[in-house]
Amino acid sequence: MTSAHNGPRVRPAIASIPAYVPGRPPAPRPGVPTYKLSSNENPYPPLPGVLEAATAAAATMNRYPDMGCTALYAALGEHLDVPADNLAAGAGSVAVLYHLLQAYCEAGDEVVYAWRSFEAYPIAVAVTGATSVQVPLGPEARHDLDAMAEAITDRTKVVIVCTPNNPTGPAVGRAELEAFLDRVPPHVVVVVDEAYREFVRIDDPVDAVALYRDRPNLVVMRTFAKAYGLAGFRVGYLVAAQPIASAVRACSLPFGVSAVAQAAAVASLEREADLLERVDALVAERERVVTALREQGWSVPDAQGNFVWLSLGDRTGEFAAAAEEAGVMVRPFAGEGARVSIGDPAGNDVFLKVAAGFAG
Ligand SMILES: *Cc1c(COP(=O)(O)O)cnc(C)c1O
Repeated sequence: MTSAHNGPRVRPAIASIPAYVPGRPPAPRPGVPTYKLSSNENPYPPLPGVLEAATAAAATMNRYPDMGCTALYAALGEHLDVPADNLAAGAGSVAVLYHLLQAYCEAGDEVVYAWRSFEAYPIAVAVTGATSVQVPLGPEARHDLDAMAEAITDRTKVVIVCTPNNPTGPAVGRAELEAFLDRVPPHVVVVVDEAYREFVRIDDPVDAVALYRDRPNLVVMRTFAKAYGLAGFRVGYLVAAQPIASAVRACSLPFGVSAVAQAAAVASLEREADLLERVDALVAERERVVTALREQGWSVPDAQGNFVWLSLGDRTGEFAAAAEEAGVMVRPFAGEGARVSIGDPAGNDVFLKVAAGFAG
């Protein structure tokens, strides 16, 4: 006889993990064009050179990929001017974060990050058995770096700074980040999650790769999912001093980055100028959307990613439903607000029309 209570017991830390809520795709609706603005994806189709590189790599699908990511590390190393052994790639930068937290955290340890921020953080921390210490965002939905520095204790193993912050949008400036880094004890790993760095247009932008060179506890996390348009292929990486990169590689899933993803990432680096032109167009659209929202009366936090944040409180669900009715999927956070990705102009216009009805 078996019954539920004497079956396999999942670790309590796992049982309490909140579900990751993916941005929903729109349901096809006859006569209504639909737009997926719920996952911060790049609306552009793949560039020709990138698609061809991936297609060629697909021909070797009977083989395992290069586990050492040799070509990718060589291309990134040259691109960023870093040694290959300072890199660790994974199936998206979220996977890289999982591996990093596994390498540094266990039950009883603490991981400090801002909240609200990227919803993958609490999940990735919980998997290790460590405890999340969530530091509320400050005014204008910005990181409160002073409060984060004060939240560091003897138990803190990792601090995560998400800049620009998903889902609220503001970016941390270089001077304030450096002042913060100076306050973090050397035994604490600081992850700077730069998933949206290509979209940043502030006067004093962070380039965490420049900072990591003389900071052995600094980890730069980047992804090909957003500006580079490879979300579906799952490839991201970190840059850090060799001991950290090597510990992360030790925790990584063998053959975690597919051959198509490696080939597409390398080809994307070669086509970077074209990709960054597209990023410029998205930034211009973002500015158009933010200006229109502010004219409607919205107070929108500084949008430095490829998305905007509407603080809707208890009208969030109603707004998401109205947007869906109009053909636009957004990412609602119940009771707080909605994150809306910048898509192509037609989709953005539909979103703006819906937003007008909720303004003020
Ligand atoms: C999208 C995103 C990532 C990258 O995710 P991938 O796993 O590379 O697709 C990382 N951090 C933040 C804050 C993001 O929004």
